[in-house]
Amino acid sequence: MLGQRGILVWFTGLSGSGKSTIAYRVEQALMAQGRLAYVLDGDNVRHGLNSNLGFGAEDRAENIRRIGEVGKLFVDAGLITLSSFVSPYRADRDRVRAILGAGGFLEVFVNTPLEVCESRDPKGLYKKARAGEIAQFTGISDPYEPPLSPELEIRTDQLTVDAASALVLDLLMRHEKIQPQQARD
Ligand code: ADP
Repeated sequence: MLGQRGILVWFTGLSGSGKSTIAYRVEQALMAQGRLAYVLDGDNVRHGLNSNLGFGAEDRAENIRRIGEVGKLFVDAGLITLSSFVSPYRADRDRVRAILGAGGFLEVFVNTPLEVCESRDPKGLYKKARAGEIAQFTGISDPYEPPLSPELEIRTDQLTVDAASALVLDLLMRHEKIQPQQARD
């Protein structure tokens, strides 16, 4: 019915690196092409499905596991799903990759230097973290483990939002060519 295959595009990177900004721009571009896309992000997941979880390692792992499982359902339903979470631990992201299986998961590393993220500080979180008002803040008082072999790496300190989005759209297009639509009877 949708004429598309579902896929989970997993954005990872520091807070303020640009994950959500790029994900929503990609969503907009896909919708303009008549393709159904949906962004999963902290605002619609942390406050609902995962409102009982904190930011310790165990809760972070459970947060990402649930998002992965929800992502899989969305992908099964045919949506181009764009997930925007810091997801700082490599093992948690790799677990989602395993849940989605080969061809269902594209990891996009939004690689923006900490100094740039901190100078943007769109939600004022770095300021709070530096003041000790937020514990276990990724990049300040909690580690970020960069992906070892992401499908795409974006340096937002060197690219505009449009250029970054174009890279993601291009990745999706190349991926579809390699993984053609399955023939349906
Ligand atoms: P995240 O989702 O990674 O926490 P956000 O997308 O919420 O980050 O915030 C990123 C901020 O950086 C936004 O205010 C955005 O306008 C700004 N920004 C500046 N240049 C870029 C760029 N090239 N790509 C993405 N965001 C950028």
